Amino acid sequence: MGAIVGIDLGTTNSVVAARNAYGRPEVIPNRDGGHLTPSVIYFGVQPPVVGQEAREWARVGNEEIASFFKPHMGSPQFKLRFHGRDYDATALSARVLAKLKADAEAHLGTTVDRAVITVPAYFADAQRKATIEAGRLAGLDVARIINEPTAAALAYGLQKTGADETILIYDLGGGTFDVTVARISPESVEVLSTAGDHDLGGKNWDDRIASYLAEKFAAETGIDPLDDPQALNEVLLLAEGAKWTLSDRTSARITLQLGTVRKTYELTRDAFEVMTFPLMDRTLRLTEEALAEARHDWAAISGVLLVGGSTRMPMVRQFVKQMSGRDPRAGVNVDEVVALGAAVQASMVEGTATTDATPRFSLAGMRRVSDVMSHSLGVVALSADGKSYVNDVVIRRNAPIPAEEAKSYVHATHGGANDRLEVYLTQGESPQPIDCTVLGKYVFTGFHVTDRDVKVDVSMSYDANGIVQVRAVQRDTGHRLTMEVEPVPDDLSWLGQPPETGGDPENATLTRVYLLIDVSSSMAGAPLMEAQSAARAFLDRCDFTRTEVGLVSFSDVVTLQADATDNARKVQAAINRLEADGTTNLAEAVSLARTHLHKTDRRRYVVILTDGYPDAAEAAVAEASRAKAEGIDIVAIGIGSADRDYLRRLASTESGSIFASHGQLVSTFGHIARMIAEGGRGLRTVS
Ligand code: AMP
Repeated sequence: MGAIVGIDLGTTNSVVAARNAYGRPEVIPNRDGGHLTPSVIYFGVQPPVVGQEAREWARVGNEEIASFFKPHMGSPQFKLRFHGRDYDATALSARVLAKLKADAEAHLGTTVDRAVITVPAYFADAQRKATIEAGRLAGLDVARIINEPTAAALAYGLQKTGADETILIYDLGGGTFDVTVARISPESVEVLSTAGDHDLGGKNWDDRIASYLAEKFAAETGIDPLDDPQALNEVLLLAEGAKWTLSDRTSARITLQLGTVRKTYELTRDAFEVMTFPLMDRTLRLTEEALAEARHDWAAISGVLLVGGSTRMPMVRQFVKQMSGRDPRAGVNVDEVVALGAAVQASMVEGTATTDATPRFSLAGMRRVSDVMSHSLGVVALSADGKSYVNDVVIRRNAPIPAEEAKSYVHATHGGANDRLEVYLTQGESPQPIDCTVLGKYVFTGFHVTDRDVKVDVSMSYDANGIVQVRAVQRDTGHRLTMEVEPVPDDLSWLGQPPETGGDPENATLTRVYLLIDVSSSMAGAPLMEAQSAARAFLDRCDFTRTEVGLVSFSDVVTLQADATDNARKVQAAINRLEADGTTNLAEAVSLARTHLHKTDRRRYVVILTDGYPDAAEAAVAEASRAKAEGIDIVAIGIGSADRDYLRRLASTESGSIFASHGQLVSTFGHIARMIAEGGRGLRTVS
């Protein structure tokens, strides 16, 4: 048997570690002598290169580059094409793993054939399975998948010899944010809760600077860098560089040259912190969510562990100090601690798996790790009144794993005519299945026929890797039913409809949507931040081959932030730069959207988000009526002190007026985007 290593397969960088001759985990340097191997692949040479050299090619703007693919693990939609071949995120990750394996073998002088690989706690089933598959493709038997914050706690617990304590692990990487509450002792790590956002990381901080630069450059020169992918890449690189500078210094000079036009800007750390405050604030919300799930308050937390490259930003340290009342724990290498923890877990796996008599160093008594999953597991069920589909949670999130629960079904076999029970498994918290991830369609057959309905116990579990396992037993006979996992159908729109109606085929319509976002002063801070996340979620769900989206902000000033476009980045940049101030002139905003929707034969929507009454409420209703009379469909979403009746008067239909409470806005917008993509049934005035 070859050696086993621990691997932190990161969005930006990856690290491999193993225990040394003294039983201590240590990072294995790559062939260039570095501890971090960029998770970047350059396809311009044969064979493609991985790591630092690939990153250099990316820096000079080469396009045959694959990077930042980890967030797309397990997604069938994500594909990159190089030299006529498609690569999904699993295949790309396999190349990074193969490089890490080869470098580790060169350093250790032995074969490496097994690994413990870490994943963000927020990774769901498909992403975990894809990670195991990437390992297999790279020639590694993946002995275990563990959560990154748990690995960090393991490594930290090992280096500490103190009493039991409860710590919070704040892990802000390049593309994901995870926060975990764990009890650690020299012998064990017990994760109590975890929360996170897989769309929040250093990249969002870069985007914020990039939007700021692009906007300034466009205003001064008339050239918008967002129009050209090459220029955009340049702006993003400069933005990240400036962010790093601002970790060491209080201001950064940024020179942007496009063609012969050159401009220099000065960005201070203070200004950077102000423009990215909503992002920091979002981490606070998620941290509080994790604490509440663990049923703890700050007083019960004895320290905060910072993990991930983005925690180098001074604002993170300040923020953590402000939240917890203490400085974060020192002595942790934010880049390496996760890989070291994976190596500790690897030793534990090996300790239990090895039966040979070779003497081994024990790892300071570390014996037990217990973890949780951050997503609930459930099934699609009929509501009690039979009028809708609901997400019936079976294993609640933050239950310790491995976890197993059963759900009973009554199955009518009709004397053998019906030998098929279909179960749709969901992962997610929303009561509406359409807002959850549907993991699979599990089809059970092989019933022993009786003349009665039979009871079926379907058990589902999270194994120690956080991967979902399902099986079913016919209760009266006790025999296990045959199970097949069928692909999830592309069209799941029926989940959002009453059970008896079918799907709507007329979903190929071209659409133009204007988002009208309230930026009056009452939206300042958290509400605007949530609105921005929701608007981004909306964009994520839009099919930009058929949809154009524009953005209008309204306070006392109404601004066309983005003309309707099929360039998602442009709208995203516009969303990022929203700022709240002033009162609410909704009427003028609707009127502006109407003019921009006037000359198009696309299906037209206006989606309004507001948190209260506008200044001239009746004028806004009148404008909305005019728009509706012209065939524009209006969706009105309210938060905060918005009035439900008022929303109803603005919207085209009852189901197009929605009041979202705090925390629901992202899923509400996602829901609206899907409804629009599916032809807008229920949002449209039926003429
Ligand atoms: P990770 O995924 O943990 O490797 O973190 C990568 C992220 O950390 C990227 O967004 C980097 O831009 C960010 N990062 C690395 N070094 C610094 C630094 N000195 N200041 C701010 N961000 C940094």
